[in-house]
Amino acid sequence: MQIATRLHIVIIALSLALVSCAQDSGGKLVRNIDEFNDAVAVLQPGDVIVLANGTWTDVEFKLKANGLPDQPVTLTAEEPGKVIIAGQSNLRFSGEHIVVSGLVFKDGYTPTSEVISFRTSKDNLANHSRVTNTVIDNFSNPERYDSDLWVGIYGKNNQFDHNSLIGKGNRGVTLAVRMNTEASHENGHVIEYNYFGPRQTLGSNGGETIRIGTSHYSREYSNTVVRNNYFDRTSGELEIISSKACGNEIRDNVFFESQGTLTMRHGHYTTVEGNYFLGNRVPNTGGIRIINENQTVRNNYLSGLTGHRFRGALVIMNGVPNGPINRYDPVIDSLMNNNIVIDSDHIQLCAGSDEERSAPPTGSSMHNNIFMSKTNLNPFTVYDDISGISFEGNVLNEEADVSIDTGFSKVPYSVVENEHGLRVPEQSLIDEIGFGEVKLPVNKDETGADFYPKTDSVVAFQSGTTHTVAAGTNTIVDALANSGPGDTLVLENGGEYLLTKYAFIKHPVTIKTDGGEKAKLRSGKASFFIIENGGGLELENLWIDGADSPDQPGNNVVSTSKYSMNRNYSLAVRNCKVTDLDINHSFDFLKVYRSTFADSIDIIDTEMTNVTGSILSLDKETDDLGMYNVENVTIIGSMFTDVQGAVANIYRGGTDESTFGPIVVVENNEFNNTGLGRRNKPGASLKFHGVQKLHISHSRWDGSAPLELYLTNGEPITVIKDVVMKDTAELRANNDAYEIENVSYE
Ligand code: CA
Repeated sequence: MQIATRLHIVIIALSLALVSCAQDSGGKLVRNIDEFNDAVAVLQPGDVIVLANGTWTDVEFKLKANGLPDQPVTLTAEEPGKVIIAGQSNLRFSGEHIVVSGLVFKDGYTPTSEVISFRTSKDNLANHSRVTNTVIDNFSNPERYDSDLWVGIYGKNNQFDHNSLIGKGNRGVTLAVRMNTEASHENGHVIEYNYFGPRQTLGSNGGETIRIGTSHYSREYSNTVVRNNYFDRTSGELEIISSKACGNEIRDNVFFESQGTLTMRHGHYTTVEGNYFLGNRVPNTGGIRIINENQTVRNNYLSGLTGHRFRGALVIMNGVPNGPINRYDPVIDSLMNNNIVIDSDHIQLCAGSDEERSAPPTGSSMHNNIFMSKTNLNPFTVYDDISGISFEGNVLNEEADVSIDTGFSKVPYSVVENEHGLRVPEQSLIDEIGFGEVKLPVNKDETGADFYPKTDSVVAFQSGTTHTVAAGTNTIVDALANSGPGDTLVLENGGEYLLTKYAFIKHPVTIKTDGGEKAKLRSGKASFFIIENGGGLELENLWIDGADSPDQPGNNVVSTSKYSMNRNYSLAVRNCKVTDLDINHSFDFLKVYRSTFADSIDIIDTEMTNVTGSILSLDKETDDLGMYNVENVTIIGSMFTDVQGAVANIYRGGTDESTFGPIVVVENNEFNNTGLGRRNKPGASLKFHGVQKLHISHSRWDGSAPLELYLTNGEPITVIKDVVMKDTAELRANNDAYEIENVSYE
């Protein structure tokens, strides 16, 4: 009793100390939403509201206040980083001269359409206000395709700086500058020194990291400045930044291994200058894409970019003559000058040229650029008439070819790493174009909230600890319960393992036999493994057998969650044997649900025999809105025998152009008696609809259903070579826009 009383006194004393401390700095410490609302009701210029340390759950902060230029109204944390806003929460504010700092949003999502909003209603906007040293970390709606913004900037003359926005998993732009009323036009916002942390592939439009304006107001001036930000693997979709208004300045930013491009999608008179794109040869990394009039692109550094078509290193689009406001405006009077492009694969001119986008660029220039690359010796693709682009003073390494006959001179390829770790051409060439020092304009550690780490949330397979799992019933389930992200469960050589419960996979985990005889797994449940949100599964050197599965249709070995997953997963199957998935009909290897998305699915050196369902059915996004279920599928060195369903059925419908995948590789496989079951709706052994990159080679079909292709928009790259089709119907395709070489029918 005495101890309790003393403790009580100590707590009161501590609280008083904190209150007085907060009050000393002119702050009012508040401990709950009621105290916050009371404090907001009486705010005067210069007042500071201090949120008490701790976790605030299910709170909607609404702050209407007017500060003065030298006496702002401030909302801050007792200690920066120690105020966690969780659950269904958000922050809205409006008025003049408001400063928000030190907050962390995580472990939840916004119940409305924005997490942080620079307005409290359509007509009550924030001006001359600032959000700084604040974090939003994976505060993602669990419904993957429910759209929200993490930050909506309205009003005028606002600043968003030194914030960390990390890991948005659901649809919707990470940060949007809104211009939906006149009070938000010509806004002069500054967005600087922010850390935009990894954003996973969304698999749909709506994964932009920054959008300024929308097509509707794109003829208006925004005058937003985006500078000195660090974009770390912001790979949600084709557009990393989508500038959709006039008069923006995007300068001195770093784009690190980010898939997509900085796109001047709508609006005119935008300047893109001094940005650094570091692709490190990661797939789909792109640079800068010009659309519209009077755009200026100069003095940018682009290195190691692999993206093709719309995500080339430098892209000048074709436009729609007199098109509606939401289509592509023709490129007129725009510059793409003085850029350094190193080891990058694609420069695209008149890109997107088609029946609708029939207007080539006019009055534009490509001057004094340095192109040095041996990774693609034919880097320029010209899709239409380039007479409206003047070419002068460009330099190209002598190994490379260009079909443009003027404006290029050839020099030896001489690229070295400079003292800042960047690959540069000879100094004399850099001096000739007056580029200045080649050095990152901002370092990662100068960006973001100073208290918040920039650690990776995605954990690699086999990066954790190893657990030995004894043979027996549900020993795998128990071991999974005791495992952590990246851990490996090692099974006994030749051991027999039975699952009488679902094995839920809640984080990336590997299950394998270390050499020797494969451990054998059976399950008495409808699924062996269920990958939950945040999970990932690697199966290595195992024998998976269906003999103990329940006598009902629709069993499977691996299933995704039935519910929406806002984290991408990976599935890898290596050197496994899968037998007798034939208890009842429609026994699949993998069953996926809508609103789930795999970064990669690999089947390597594996044999699958006697299956009544399909192996990989990835066809659950059927709305034809350009959404799909998987980015990369790799099937190599494997044999499929007596599979009634399809080995692979991948579907991406619609005409949207904002994504990269699916990307599929099928190499060195055998397909024997596959795809011929009467329940196999596609009637194909492998069916690829809307796949963007497909490479099939060195494979043999024997007595199987045919291969079927449905090639849609986006100039898909499809190569089929060195394959044999024995007793198998001829390849079916909706058109002939694919490469085929050495395909024989026996
Ligand atoms: Ca987009």
